[in-house]
Amino acid sequence: MKELILMKSGEIALKGLNRGSFEDLLIKNAKYRLRSLGKFRFFKAQSTLYAEPQDENIDLDEAVERLSQVFGIAALCRACVVEKDFDHICSQAKEYLAQDLLCANTFKVEAKRSDKSFPMKSPDICRELGGFLLEQFPHLQVDVHEPDVTVTVEIRDFAAYIHARQLPGAGGIPVGSSGKGALLISGGIDSPVAGYMMAKRGMQLCAVHFVSPPYTSDRAKLKVLQLLKQVSRYAMGIETFIVPFTHVQEEIRDHCPEEFFTIIMRRLMMQVAQAICEQTGALALITGESVGQVASQTVQAIACTDAVCQVPVFRPVIGMDKREIVAVANRIGTFETSILPYEDCCTVFTPRHPRTRPKLAEIQQAEQALDIPGLLQECLANVEKIWVTPGLELETEFA
Ligand code: ATP
Ligand code: MG
Repeated sequence: MKELILMKSGEIALKGLNRGSFEDLLIKNAKYRLRSLGKFRFFKAQSTLYAEPQDENIDLDEAVERLSQVFGIAALCRACVVEKDFDHICSQAKEYLAQDLLCANTFKVEAKRSDKSFPMKSPDICRELGGFLLEQFPHLQVDVHEPDVTVTVEIRDFAAYIHARQLPGAGGIPVGSSGKGALLISGGIDSPVAGYMMAKRGMQLCAVHFVSPPYTSDRAKLKVLQLLKQVSRYAMGIETFIVPFTHVQEEIRDHCPEEFFTIIMRRLMMQVAQAICEQTGALALITGESVGQVASQTVQAIACTDAVCQVPVFRPVIGMDKREIVAVANRIGTFETSILPYEDCCTVFTPRHPRTRPKLAEIQQAEQALDIPGLLQECLANVEKIWVTPGLELETEFA
């Protein structure tokens, strides 16, 4: 029995003349995710994409799992490929769906006939196939409103396809269709979610992570790489820049008022990340800030941070409660890693009483004590680059 994977593109169908290039990107990303599983042939017809395995031993459940993480796909399923002949459709449906139908109490049949030359109309297919399956599985009853199993038959250009388990896709639009953004990622819960959310809107990601050895450990860095690896299942490969930040933090500690420490540090982070944007062609910064969550995320503090940014700063979780962010983190598989207790450079030298309503002029005044161009240059000269992919092997895997 021949099987393949059917994918329905969602929002892409609304893209008018650009639709072809969105679909091409989607196929490129799908191929990227399936490459290590084996050879597939991809083709498209009538807002459906097909991934056809070229080798019998390919793990199709794993392929479906991976494709369910590719943005631009609204729904997907494994389907059996059948000759466009009604008797054949009946016998194959019986065989292919036996397991599902034996475990179900109720079912219905849905037919979609895009090949109008097929002699039976959709309602006839539903009725006749439904009758046939009732005979074959006498314990079943028809329920058109809330069936346990919906048997779908699609009569298309090249063949008929039978399936019963359509799954929701990742939604969104294909990664790469909205340019590139530089994600400032910590080891926390919020920033991996922020990266996922912008990738969902088509942004390719590069990532910037600041480390402060010896105050932060190698394990903290590995934890961030593991988070990025998880995000890359959705966002595809992520060029990652690890930036040593110890000297910057010590300079701020030694020369600036303690109450401004965090906000000045964040302004420097933004400037380093902007320089990385220039190097990589990224058009925006992405952070995991949420209004009011901590002292550096009051509206006044965010305004002071934004004042050094020349590119847009996207903060997709800005209006979300922690609980809502955690729900997404759980869904995308980053939560368990995020809560591992390794220190972040943001928690090094945190002020006892940070100013929650800083004034930009005061901050700028305090920064006069620093050689900012020199510090930026030093950071950028010592960046470590790592290409993070879903298959990246890490020396330590946590959680
Ligand atoms: P998160 O859960 O993402 O760590 P948070 O609630 O802990 O967020 P902060 O520690 O104040 O908040 O950080 C706010 C944002 O600053 C983070 O979401 C992230 O975008 C960025 N950030 C914090 N620490 C780092 C770091 N070490 N490297 C890069 N970006 C960072
Ligand atoms: Mg944090």
